[in-house]
Amino acid sequence: MTFAAQIITLYPDMFPGPLGASLAGKALKDGKWSYETFQMRDFATDKHRSVDDTPAGGGAGMVLRADILGAAVDAAIAKQPNAPILAMTPRGKPLTQTKVREISGGEGVTILCGRFEGFDERIFENRTIEQVSIGDYILSGGEMAALILLDACIRLLPDVMGHASSGDEESFENGLLEYPHYTRPIEWEGRIIPEVLRSGDHAKIAAWRQGASEAITRSRRPDLWKRHRDVLDSSPSDVRQNNKED
Ligand code: SAM
Repeated sequence: MTFAAQIITLYPDMFPGPLGASLAGKALKDGKWSYETFQMRDFATDKHRSVDDTPAGGGAGMVLRADILGAAVDAAIAKQPNAPILAMTPRGKPLTQTKVREISGGEGVTILCGRFEGFDERIFENRTIEQVSIGDYILSGGEMAALILLDACIRLLPDVMGHASSGDEESFENGLLEYPHYTRPIEWEGRIIPEVLRSGDHAKIAAWRQGASEAITRSRRPDLWKRHRDVLDSSPSDVRQNNKED
């Protein structure tokens, strides 16, 4: 099955962009995913092909019009009725690895890329659209956010990553940040790879990695650490399942 991405944007030329290279680029060539862009201006009704207007109530910038967005979203729904529709916006729910796994497990996704001040709110009232943020900072448009979302999904598609298991131990998969990695040379500028990692004792290595994961999460991401601890305290037997919930 091909994972089909639909992107509604004012800048179709930004796709596939970096997703045409490396892992995602090869997967695209191999037909593991596909994409189609919808130029928002194609849904405009005036001769200037305008898609935005001034904000009601005044203020700076321009707002993407609900009628244009509605027509573009409907065209995307007609082509892929079952794909979830996501709007990239800093006002959305933060994107998580759980969400990425959920999307990549489906048939595809439709992504709405904002520009200017963003979307007329009524598009969210009249269409089923999930608002997603990629972080607490402001980009100039939703295209970069869409590329990030797609990159995260594509690498999880079947047979895209070299080793089937290489995604399982990564940061966020079990509620923790990943442990540190090392590779040859064993000694570099006076720094030596921890002895335990060279011991060949798999149980000890696993214990060291778990400890390192916990220590890094505790110091760098107290929010993740607290959630991890809460999950452990509430239901030790269901840790993995609970960690995957938002
Ligand atoms: N006025 C908006 C606000 O304060 O929430 C910001 C608009 S931003 C300049 C233009 C577009 O970039 C947004 O509509 C959205 O599509 C995209 N964007 C910016 N930051 C983003 C983020 N952190 N996550 C996802 N999309 C983002």
